[in-house]
Amino acid sequence: IPAFSQTPPNPFRVATEATFPPFEFQQGGQLTGFDIDLMRAIGKEADLNIDFRNLPFDGIIPALQARTVEAAISGMTITAERAQAISFSRPYFKAGLAIAVREDNQTIKNFEDLKGKRIAVQIGTTGALEATKIPGATVSQFDSAALALQELINGRVDAVVNDKPVTLYAIKQAGLRGVKVVGELLTEEFYGIALPKNSPYLQLINDALGRVIESGRYDAIFRQWFGE
Ligand code: GLN
Repeated sequence: IPAFSQTPPNPFRVATEATFPPFEFQQGGQLTGFDIDLMRAIGKEADLNIDFRNLPFDGIIPALQARTVEAAISGMTITAERAQAISFSRPYFKAGLAIAVREDNQTIKNFEDLKGKRIAVQIGTTGALEATKIPGATVSQFDSAALALQELINGRVDAVVNDKPVTLYAIKQAGLRGVKVVGELLTEEFYGIALPKNSPYLQLINDALGRVIESGRYDAIFRQWFGE
């Protein structure tokens, strides 16, 4: 049997950082979200017994490298740097970074205006990486996007740099008050399912993801979480 067609382990362990609504979060003690539904659909398609493991976001790549999980789905942006350490599936979601400020803020309107400002981010994210490139900015790192947004509401930072769909969901669906999104999307990013480098299950995941997309199940899950 060639390496690429190894029998997948049972359970098939999938890491996620479950404080990132609407992609992955806890509701009444249950794991839920777009990524969770998508991964369950992929698992069904590929005949995998998926076992989600809740890990800190900055612990996901180390867990993949240590092979204590078979895969991860966690709103993770496909980047060239990460792709040196791990493998990614085909992209499954288009996102990007946005700036959030308090509603009464009239001075921060775009990326340029963040120079010298206090910015909160989630640790280990593309938002954290972009924020640390801003000249003179003071960047505070938090374990979750929700904690970073709370810091903004509390007035201890001037802005949050975070994935736009997550910030918008917090404002529009989760009732976060006193915060608005300003400016253009800072980056265009694509989420991928992450696997250990050269995982024998990459093909399996990609094929199953393809069938979930082509069969219309992807669209149904998308509408459920983002639909009008
Ligand atoms: N998409 C961002 C990243 O990959 C944030 C992901 C997250 O916080 N779950 O860095």
